[in-house]
Amino acid sequence: MTVFSFPQVRPGRFSLFNSVETIKLAHAFFSGKEFIGMYKQKDPGKKVVSVTFPFSEIIFAMGAIPVNLVRCEDYTYKETHLLMRRITEITKIFGWGAIDNLLKLAYFTRAGADVVDILCDNMIGALNERYTQLPRYAEERGFPVDSCFASRMLYAANLRQGRVADASFDIPYRCPFFAKYYDSLTPFMRNNFLLDIPMTSGADAEAAMEADLQELVAMLERLTGNSYSDARLAEAIEATNEVKAIYKEILYGICKGDVLPYNPFTFAEVQALMLFSLTDCNSNLKAYRANFKRLFAEMTGKIARGEGFDASRCSKILYTPMFGGFEQENVKAVSKLGGRVILADWEIFGILEPISTTGDVLHNFALHMLRMNQFLGFDNETYANTMIRVAKDLGVDGVLFQGVFGCKNLGPVLKIFKEKARQNGIPVVETSFNNIGENVEQNKTRIEAFMEMIQA
Ligand code: SF4
Repeated sequence: MTVFSFPQVRPGRFSLFNSVETIKLAHAFFSGKEFIGMYKQKDPGKKVVSVTFPFSEIIFAMGAIPVNLVRCEDYTYKETHLLMRRITEITKIFGWGAIDNLLKLAYFTRAGADVVDILCDNMIGALNERYTQLPRYAEERGFPVDSCFASRMLYAANLRQGRVADASFDIPYRCPFFAKYYDSLTPFMRNNFLLDIPMTSGADAEAAMEADLQELVAMLERLTGNSYSDARLAEAIEATNEVKAIYKEILYGICKGDVLPYNPFTFAEVQALMLFSLTDCNSNLKAYRANFKRLFAEMTGKIARGEGFDASRCSKILYTPMFGGFEQENVKAVSKLGGRVILADWEIFGILEPISTTGDVLHNFALHMLRMNQFLGFDNETYANTMIRVAKDLGVDGVLFQGVFGCKNLGPVLKIFKEKARQNGIPVVETSFNNIGENVEQNKTRIEAFMEMIQA
């Protein structure tokens, strides 16, 4: 892993220059429907598979398009959808260099305005607006109100956008509600494939996992008309291995370091985009890898040129679990109180570990999926240990644990985790989470007391 040496940061404004790759990542994430439409226009035979976990290598390898259905929503908050369309039109004709020039122009004509901040803020605001509406949409259509936020949201996304997909690939890891959500899809989703990761280890678990993957492959072969090949899976894995290695560099190099490429709030939003977009690699693996590589170069370049944000005195707060949704107001509260948030759920879940591309590649992929057992674990003891290890490796000053209403899986880990954190000298604050925008004031009060305690 690269070790960075951070130069002295110039005082004053952090630059909005050279952030075009950040906008590109967000643009691809929020243009799901538009992009799928473009891909289908180019190749009408292409099949679309909805995914909920970042195991989309197998979908790419079969020549299909993975999509996180939430990306297919229209993001109308502050007209984000129109902005996205304008960006598509401009970049189609003039390329991404034009966006870079527009940003520079905006900087000089609106001195002091930080366009990247505004864009990121609005885009995550747009995502949150949808994340607020989707669970309610599910409830109004009879999905159990006592189920967790994530399963309500996924159900609604499937009801609203499911027609985009020709198949779905879901993983109900240790989760009864996820299985319920999956069952509810049967009447209207075609080719539903639920892959149960065995909750055991050893040769039998590996064989069961591989057999399930082979069944998935057979379904995808029927769907796409393409044949499986180890070489194509290896190619897809090589690309995601590269992305994941960069992701780790961002976590352990940049997030852990003293200088951030943007202010802490914007940086948290960029991390959220990285986390959410990894689920389906924005439906285009080649473009995503290129985007991620340049994004990393953009971040380190800003830091190297002294255009970063001096965060040496900002307390580092690990915010977890938030892969199913997070409260932007909590991040704002931490940032306002002189902290900076790190989002590392995929690292905690073991998703960022590399997969071997030699030998039997499907078997290697099965082992990778089984790795969830070592990280999230068969039990909450393992999960709590992983959180402690990652918190220590990241050198955080505290953990903001997002309690998830209705979650019988992740929620109960808190008790064990709190005790282990206490033994390791890691302060923990719990915020409650049922729907975005709920309990904001109560959470803020807790965060204020927590940050005061850390900074005392
Ligand atoms: S939040 Fe908990 S209950 Fe909901 S889908 Fe995730 S693991 Fe399952």
